[in-house]
Amino acid sequence: MNTLDTASAPQPVDLIIYGGQVVTMDANDQIYTDGAIAIKDGTITAVGPTAQIREQYMASKTIDAHKQLVLPGFVDSHAHPGMAPLIGSFKQDPSQPSIYARGGNVPYIMTGFSSMVGRSLPEELTRITSTSYLITMLKSGTTCFADGGWLNPSAVAQAVKDVGIRGSIAPMIIDTAVDPANLDQGTHRVADADELLATMETLVAQWHGAANDRIRVIGNIFWPLLCSDELCKGMRDLCNRHNIGYNSHAAAVLNENDLSVQLFGKRTIARLAELEVLGPRFQAIHMGFVNDEEIQQLVETDTKVAHNPLQNAFAGKGITTTGAILNMMDAGVTVGIGTDGGGGFIGNMLESIRTTVALHRDMAMDNSRFPLMQAFAMATRDSARCSFWDDRVGTLENGMAADLLLVDVSNSRYAFDDTPHLWFLYSGHEGEIKTVLIDGEVVVEDGRVVTVDEEQIVAQAQEAMQGFRAQFGA
Ligand SMILES: [Zn+2]
Repeated sequence: MNTLDTASAPQPVDLIIYGGQVVTMDANDQIYTDGAIAIKDGTITAVGPTAQIREQYMASKTIDAHKQLVLPGFVDSHAHPGMAPLIGSFKQDPSQPSIYARGGNVPYIMTGFSSMVGRSLPEELTRITSTSYLITMLKSGTTCFADGGWLNPSAVAQAVKDVGIRGSIAPMIIDTAVDPANLDQGTHRVADADELLATMETLVAQWHGAANDRIRVIGNIFWPLLCSDELCKGMRDLCNRHNIGYNSHAAAVLNENDLSVQLFGKRTIARLAELEVLGPRFQAIHMGFVNDEEIQQLVETDTKVAHNPLQNAFAGKGITTTGAILNMMDAGVTVGIGTDGGGGFIGNMLESIRTTVALHRDMAMDNSRFPLMQAFAMATRDSARCSFWDDRVGTLENGMAADLLLVDVSNSRYAFDDTPHLWFLYSGHEGEIKTVLIDGEVVVEDGRVVTVDEEQIVAQAQEAMQGFRAQFGA
């Protein structure tokens, strides 16, 4: 056997993307100015300089990426695609503070969510509006997301399957409520914990690993104030048994901790620590109101955090004002970026990256904080870690899924500087994302989704929303 000949023969792969500026986001932040990626069976086989990859690999299909950035897809670590039908209903009187503003009207928020227990939206409405929502995410460069929980998770999963995006779906898990007029009476049950856990088991059996592992299931403790100790521990055990993540909105508004002390004797994170809910599979969402002791508990348990700067700021929660996000990052907590889109607006990760940088620099009065690439790392590899997808996505490296973006940097915005990847993060536009691949398949081509008929979906979603508004007055 002539080993030299074997070694020099190009290996066959399915696709080679070449000639672009490849930003890998690997541990060394490796960038190839004239880079290429070889892809086989939906997985990255090799990344390197174009000349080297073209010498070592051959493919029947190629994509010329000259004058384009090749980036890992954004991972939205917190979104609610299933909440899309309610987007319009969250419009509010601009003269009034939101229910989350000025510290938050916590009993009112609790009652709003607990009143949804046992209800469902029409499955078809959720499927079609989620499909429309996911098209928007995909076109703006989000290739993977973690659901924060809502009604009809199977309809969301079907939409994920159809659109070709990657994501974890979650149910909304709540078993307790309060009477806002009689808070001294404490909480009362509105659902059976065992029954909720049984529905969670069914969801895992039906969807976890579906669509060639594009769909996973993530557990949910919707808000600790709305969940009994029994339910919190049951969800933790179930998810550990299945080796899946679980999440919870936590320390989300200023007034949350006081009511948690009144109802449960402990602040939110201290209670979750005592219940042993904190841990490497736990994603805590928002987290603006945590003290140093609690941050230490997050570090020790490798708890992950999803930060949602735009939703937080729009709602007037004041999360950046406490410095907690920076403090957690400085202490070594993995913090990803999410949008919390779905409830009030449609999430966009490029805007969320920029908002993260702007808000925290302003709060710290220090523009040396948050280099753009750090925020980009939060939105890719760190978000993948905190969404429990880091075994497949978040970086462009051998063995990772070929989920990536091609960004056109030939236009006038990029005439002034030779670091187009930084310009894209600093002042680019989602319309410059021309091509999106997931599992090595093109799902967005020339800015259009090719997996489903967008015009038809939009028409169907508008029709479904008309019926929904007429029926529910939303
Ligand atoms: Zn949320």
